[in-house]
Amino acid sequence: MSVSAKRLMCDQCRRAQSACICHWIRPVEHQVEVLFLQHPLEVNNAKNSARLLHLSLPHSRMTVGEKFDADELQHLLYDSSNERTCTVHPVLLYPDTSADHKVSLPPPWPEAADSSDHVYRLVVLDATWRKSRKMLYLNPMLQQLPRLPLADMPASHYAIRKAHKPDQLSSFEATCHALMQLENDADKYLPLLTAFDGFVAQQQAYRPETQV
Ligand SMILES: [Zn+2]
Repeated sequence: MSVSAKRLMCDQCRRAQSACICHWIRPVEHQVEVLFLQHPLEVNNAKNSARLLHLSLPHSRMTVGEKFDADELQHLLYDSSNERTCTVHPVLLYPDTSADHKVSLPPPWPEAADSSDHVYRLVVLDATWRKSRKMLYLNPMLQQLPRLPLADMPASHYAIRKAHKPDQLSSFEATCHALMQLENDADKYLPLLTAFDGFVAQQQAYRPETQV
């Protein structure tokens, strides 16, 4: 890459500066940590909104891959991310597809016995539906996690926004809804969803022929 081409890239969102999306970043002080496992095919996808959300969530982490090294994944899922030691409860944002899969969520936030010693870590597979199934298949450790199926979301949360079916939600929207649910706080995340609408409008403006 030439120097001039490099200068045209935004370091933060990693898009061309002319297509920078950083003005849609809305930092939010969230309690539930987030781990984005991004499929390699999503990295350069213009519709990729997970990175935008990652930039708005200070307690989030993003790693790219399809099949993860077991030790690495163990660290990503369970290690405390800050200096204080706390027990991390990873929860996979994923439909409860298997009838015999036991969904065993820890006590709902913030009713955990001592919430300062416990933290949820929402694990988001940022991929197409087909690729997310493959990621699950390739990483047995992910199959063992308790799941947060968005289909069980209270209808009121959807009423806040346009009528989207759960399986039509982007990673950005699905993650916001999951955080609303886990933290029992919808208002905190509404500015992010509003920003997401602006992001989508910006993407569509680049492709006027695309109807979504
Ligand atoms: Zn940017």
